[in-house]
Amino acid sequence: MSSSVVFKSFTGLLHSSSAQDHHLKPPRRRTTFRVSASKTSPRLQNRNLRVAVIGGGPAGGCAAETLAKGGIETYLIERKLDNCKPCGGAIPLCMVGEFDLPLDIIDRKVTKMKMISPSNIAVDIGQTLKPHEYIGMVRREVLDAYLRERAAKNGAQVINGLFMKMDIPKEGGVKGGAPYVLHYTEYDGKAGGTGVKKTLEVDAVIGADGANSRVAKAIGAGDYEYAIAFQERVKIPDDKMVYYENLAEMYVGDDVSPDFYGWVFPKCDHVAVGTGTVTHKGDIKKFQLATRNRARDKILGGKIIRVEAHPIPEHPRPRRLSGRVALVGDAAGYVTKCSGEGIYFAAKSGRMCAEAIVEGSVNGQRMVEESDLRNYLEKWDKTYWPTYKVLDILQKVFYRSNPAREAFVEMCADEYVQKMTFDSYLYKKVAPGNPLEDLKLAVNTIGSLVRANALRKEMEKLTV
Ligand SMILES: Cc1cc2nc3c(=O)[nH]c(=O)nc-3n(C[C@H](O)[C@H](O)[C@H](O)COP(=O)(O)OP(=O)(O)OC[C@H]3O[C@@H](n4cnc5c(N)ncnc54)[C@H](O)[C@@H]3O)c2cc1C
Repeated sequence: MSSSVVFKSFTGLLHSSSAQDHHLKPPRRRTTFRVSASKTSPRLQNRNLRVAVIGGGPAGGCAAETLAKGGIETYLIERKLDNCKPCGGAIPLCMVGEFDLPLDIIDRKVTKMKMISPSNIAVDIGQTLKPHEYIGMVRREVLDAYLRERAAKNGAQVINGLFMKMDIPKEGGVKGGAPYVLHYTEYDGKAGGTGVKKTLEVDAVIGADGANSRVAKAIGAGDYEYAIAFQERVKIPDDKMVYYENLAEMYVGDDVSPDFYGWVFPKCDHVAVGTGTVTHKGDIKKFQLATRNRARDKILGGKIIRVEAHPIPEHPRPRRLSGRVALVGDAAGYVTKCSGEGIYFAAKSGRMCAEAIVEGSVNGQRMVEESDLRNYLEKWDKTYWPTYKVLDILQKVFYRSNPAREAFVEMCADEYVQKMTFDSYLYKKVAPGNPLEDLKLAVNTIGSLVRANALRKEMEKLTV
């Protein structure tokens, strides 16, 4: 049997009037697109497909919005509606357009980036940006709340609750369409309240509950290696804030992290100073102090107003799907190496997974099957595997020693490198290269690395 699935457009969503006012982009045409699907799964009687999304970060908010718009009975369970996820909050330009984000939720538009080497050589990157291009800086409490509210406006039921566990139907039951029973504690919003234990029956579950995902545990998804990231929000004097108006800094060196980078990112009225590491988690506070010290002169007189830390997944979990349960965002392990970026990938995977469910259930009219959810995984891996691989290699080559980091910063001065890097980051598409420039870059990179190796050998002689 062949049927036609209709997705409502992702543009022209319901905004608050103030959000609309700040939306400087020209209005886009409302469009619909149709997908043809052949389905054999049972047609649901007198009800639509029920899907629970666990976790209301970018992955969960975007998944719930897409499900609700696609005709699914959608529940979004978030334990803390004012959650302030520890995060640098840097988002690529394409996310603003693709997810139709209003400009008033973006604190800063970063157009200048300084990459600072172990010996404090600073290279300005961002010179190749076009006038309309920028990296967005958001506060997560603002972004996440906005995405959740938009999901609710589109019909998702947002529950302020802590997901505890779920009863998974037996093998035959998963195939036969038996429900998953979720156990959660619902809060009534009163401070100190212990909440009320409840259960909810659904046909499918999206685990968007972050790095410590309980949904992942429930389906035996297995563990991943993780980095610990630490961040301090520092309120600096107004005259110091002028310097960070539209500028972000990245520091590399053994002092700030043996395998990652330290950062100073500007926010509305403060800067976020942080660092991370996989290999030396016990030393994270030492690395944080070093990052603050490197930025010392520029944040002098600053007051720490918030200290936060959280794990960052290093690679996808061994299993991201089981029956009618799929993982997205950090729960699945979708943060890139080298840059530690995960917001866009969380939002995108949430949306992609939800689209697969909408399509597989023919707008909520039919039961979904594991194969429908697998379509999301296949599409995801095909689209993003090269991005993850390239960044993994870059991290291995350039973050391994101080001489290699010096070479990396030196390489960042090259305009061609900047253009390729920014185009790939801002638009999430591997930028098409220019063969001649690629060759020059390869020669320069080898030159930088040879110099780095020679330098390292000299350093080793000195320390023997
Ligand atoms: C210090 C730091 C800096 C970072 N900087 C950047 C950056 O600048 N740019 C970038 O792109 N990425 C950055 N990242 C990564 C980014 O924060 C994550 O990749 C992103 O938040 C993943 O989104 P998510 O929706 O998958 O998960 P999360 O944002 O972790 O959201 C999970 C949600 O689930 C909720 N939840 C968890 N358990 C339960 C439960 N049992 N019941 C109900 N709700 C639950 C949580 O309250 C939370 O709201 C950074 C990470 C860290 C730690």
